Amino acid sequence: MTSNNKQSDAPTTDIKNQSKVCAGRETHERMNFLYQASTLMSQTNPQLSAVYGKLAKSIGKKAVLRMEPAIKRTLCVRCGVLLNPATTAELHDFRHKQLCYLQVDCKLCGYSKRFYNSKNHQLWLDNPGSVVERIEFD
Ligand SMILES: [Zn+2]
Repeated sequence: MTSNNKQSDAPTTDIKNQSKVCAGRETHERMNFLYQASTLMSQTNPQLSAVYGKLAKSIGKKAVLRMEPAIKRTLCVRCGVLLNPATTAELHDFRHKQLCYLQVDCKLCGYSKRFYNSKNHQLWLDNPGSVVERIEFD
């Protein structure tokens, strides 16, 4: 295994430099493509949208990469369909004295997810301390 790595130095260094720039860039691009395909298919073919969405989630899980919560929340947890309020999802805004949440029901599989509104809750990505490094692409 070690002898194979030393045979061609020039191509491997290029690959190493690319991977240093952004870890898992190709995987991110593939997940982005599948998410866009899922978005496109959500209006005409929800089953196909669910396949693409679930594939994007499983690719991210295998490569140990995370989706941004705003994007991840648009995919159904169970079937992976893009939750479009016009076609594939129903939104219920529940407000009571102490309990406020937004319930999203998937029309394809029937799964419902609640997003609670608490005043003190803040996502980790909204915290400025979560940014380790900023990479800009040309
Ligand atoms: Zn679903």
